[in-house]
Amino acid sequence: MTKYKLEYIWLDGYTPVPGLRGKTQIKEFDAFPTLEQLPLWGFDGSSTQQAEGHSSDCVLKPVAVYPDPARTNGALVMCEVMMPDGVTPHASNKRATILDDEDAWFGFEQEYFFYKDGRPLGFPTSGYPAPQGPYYTGVGYKNVGDVARQLVEEHLDLCLAAGINHEGINAEVAKGQWEFQIFGKGSRKAADQIWMARYLLLRLCEKHGIDIEFHCKPLGDTDWNGSGMHCNFSTKYMREVGGKDYFEALMAAFDKNLMDHIAVYGPDNDKRLTGKHETAPWNKFSYGVADRGASIRVPHSFVRNGYKGYLEDRRPNSQGDPYQIASQVLKTIAEVPTGAARKAAA
Ligand code: ADP
Ligand code: MN
Ligand code: MN
Ligand code: MN
Repeated sequence: MTKYKLEYIWLDGYTPVPGLRGKTQIKEFDAFPTLEQLPLWGFDGSSTQQAEGHSSDCVLKPVAVYPDPARTNGALVMCEVMMPDGVTPHASNKRATILDDEDAWFGFEQEYFFYKDGRPLGFPTSGYPAPQGPYYTGVGYKNVGDVARQLVEEHLDLCLAAGINHEGINAEVAKGQWEFQIFGKGSRKAADQIWMARYLLLRLCEKHGIDIEFHCKPLGDTDWNGSGMHCNFSTKYMREVGGKDYFEALMAAFDKNLMDHIAVYGPDNDKRLTGKHETAPWNKFSYGVADRGASIRVPHSFVRNGYKGYLEDRRPNSQGDPYQIASQVLKTIAEVPTGAARKAAA
């Protein structure tokens, strides 16, 4: 038997952006535990905005488990928060009720800023560094500094070792701003991995006295880019059947549901989706081929392949909850008839 360090991780009850919480319990197993072997656990919900002090118990239900490469015999256990009965999802538990479909594929591009001493890493004590331009995918000390890349690389290795499906990383447009991409089949699978990657990044940076700023426009109304979390998505039907008519019907549904999407695409998005800095205005839906100034960018390959493949919704922001983002995308897609239903309606 081996003693495993199980880090139970969950989302707290803060709004509009839940925080990540985690605590460890030690348990003995013959081998790395499976999800089924991991017991329910509890925590004090009155300290996380999830309960009142007089009845403070909430339940943690493990829903995904990954090896924790930073700890000997460690496991990262993603949990849903449940009511004391262990079966009713807590009001803060969005994951429990989202739409999911393992044939729906999601690729999230998580952008973020490294922050130190209240400003982006590499910014001078007062004023600004040289304007944007050389930082995106840049190289060299004057562009990326001396620690950012080290952290980005270490984070990538931790995520890969944990089985998180990173697809890439790059330095972003603003100084101190970076991105990683995660791809997953199914909303829960992709979104669990985004939350876990956020957790690993925050934890990794502790020892360097560096924080991650996930706010979508930390530098306000300036000439510095905000942070998004573009949501690339495709369903089986989009990949295999697609077609121009279906695509246009899909875009009409996205247009109609504009406000439902914006509601879950992350707070303060009106400050980021201004029409500048490679964004579209938040209150007007648009789409365009290879257009980074549109709400939805249609890749060239999509059109070339007969309107088949994936689309990129550029509106979700860096603080958005990937569970709710993916679910809203699926909700809108579900409103558009496919196949036989489509032909019958035509
Ligand atoms: P860009 O920065 O040009 O917008 P990235 O390379 O950063 O593009 O991100 C593209 C994303 O698209 C990746 O996260 C990738 O996983 C995702 N992706 C690629 N193919 C599909 C697909 N068929 N369905 C869903 N997502 C996809
Ligand atoms: Mn990208
Ligand atoms: Mn980007
Ligand atoms: Mn993108």
